[in-house]
Amino acid sequence: DAPEPAGEALLEIRQAHFARPQKNYYQRPPQIERGYREQMYGMDGRSYLDMVNNVAILGHGHEKLAAAVGRQWSLLNTNSRFHYAGVAEFSRRLADLAPDGLDTVFLVNSGSEANDLALRLAWAHSGARNIISLLEAYHGWTVASDAVSTSIADNPQALTTRPAWVHAVTAPNTYRGPHRGPDSAAGYIADVEAALARIEASGERLGGFIAESVYGNAGGIPLPRGYLQEVYRLVRERGGVTIADEVQVGYGRLGHYFWGFEEQGVVPDIITIAKGMGNGHPLGAVITSRAIADSLEKEGYFFSSAGGSPVSCTVGMAVLDAMRDEKLQENARIVGDHLRRRLEALGERFPIVGAVHGMGLYLGLEFVRDRDTLEPATQETAAICNRLLDLGVIMQPTGDHLNVLKIKPPLCLSPQSADFFADMLERVLEEGW
Ligand code: PMP
Repeated sequence: DAPEPAGEALLEIRQAHFARPQKNYYQRPPQIERGYREQMYGMDGRSYLDMVNNVAILGHGHEKLAAAVGRQWSLLNTNSRFHYAGVAEFSRRLADLAPDGLDTVFLVNSGSEANDLALRLAWAHSGARNIISLLEAYHGWTVASDAVSTSIADNPQALTTRPAWVHAVTAPNTYRGPHRGPDSAAGYIADVEAALARIEASGERLGGFIAESVYGNAGGIPLPRGYLQEVYRLVRERGGVTIADEVQVGYGRLGHYFWGFEEQGVVPDIITIAKGMGNGHPLGAVITSRAIADSLEKEGYFFSSAGGSPVSCTVGMAVLDAMRDEKLQENARIVGDHLRRRLEALGERFPIVGAVHGMGLYLGLEFVRDRDTLEPATQETAAICNRLLDLGVIMQPTGDHLNVLKIKPPLCLSPQSADFFADMLERVLEEGW
């Protein structure tokens, strides 16, 4: 037999057949075939600390999850038009995690699908099409979730190609937006009011509002104090539906909160989740009220072939069990707070560190060329990420300027691994780029 392709040959096969818009993290990526907890093991014999994997929240190679999935596969996997315990129990557990009144669940397979469905629910419930979304946002790749995605880092043409029903408002970025600091909500709210006035002036109505409730895609930046409280009020006053995209920041990652919207002291009409809830298995969900869920029946029934399957429900419950048993939200808080202090100390030594954003194990380290002008250090950030790979750390940039390290490792991250990351970063900053 011919040897299995590896190295350059394997990369060439990937480049030849795996469609190009599906980017690699690296130009010369290590080949990784195994992982355990927050470590990944390359075929080059090296281990890499995975600091970007917001999907594998339990960590890689989780034995109990693997055993539960294997057991369920050997028993049954089918669709939710059949009746089995998993779909009832998992739906109830998700409803129990949500605030009172949000007790009804749709089970799908990804964050894009969850946001797509949330938008359809907003349309069906409000009877109106117009949606307000934030600039710098990413909500998914399906037609509707892509329409409300405004991030120019993900799509350089985003701002000129959104459909007319999408009304993008200024990203409430308290660090580099037009209004700064935690008490800058009023300026951003005025922008939402202006968008509402434009919709009304055109004789149309509002369908809803979608936003991450801690701004993950901008680098883990909390929204200004009181922002969502007022925006949700304005949206509801006009019959619109409020959607909290908790795909990245929700589900325990913030450590101090299970949901991002708790940080703003609000309750949305619809919560969307995915990523971590399946630890990498394709799982997504929409959690909402019975009344909003039922409004979809105006458009017919809803069916997802694999959404809520016995295997998917088993995965979802095994993830929740592990989060509880391994105290992962608490770990995110304790190790995240420790890592934040280490990063803040780097900020005191190196002027390129403009700010440390975020909380728990969703942190953003923003690099600037000048602390007054906040000129983004985009090329430097790319060079720092490449050098970190040499040193055994997987790290990637985010934000419209790709100048923020998105620090979102598995929630089982040990304090030693957090220190290793901070030590390697310190070394790179000492070396220069
Ligand atoms: N919403 C947010 C905030 C996300 O970060 C992502 C994925 N990066 C999505 C939605 C889409 O999720 P998926 O990739 O599972 O479709």
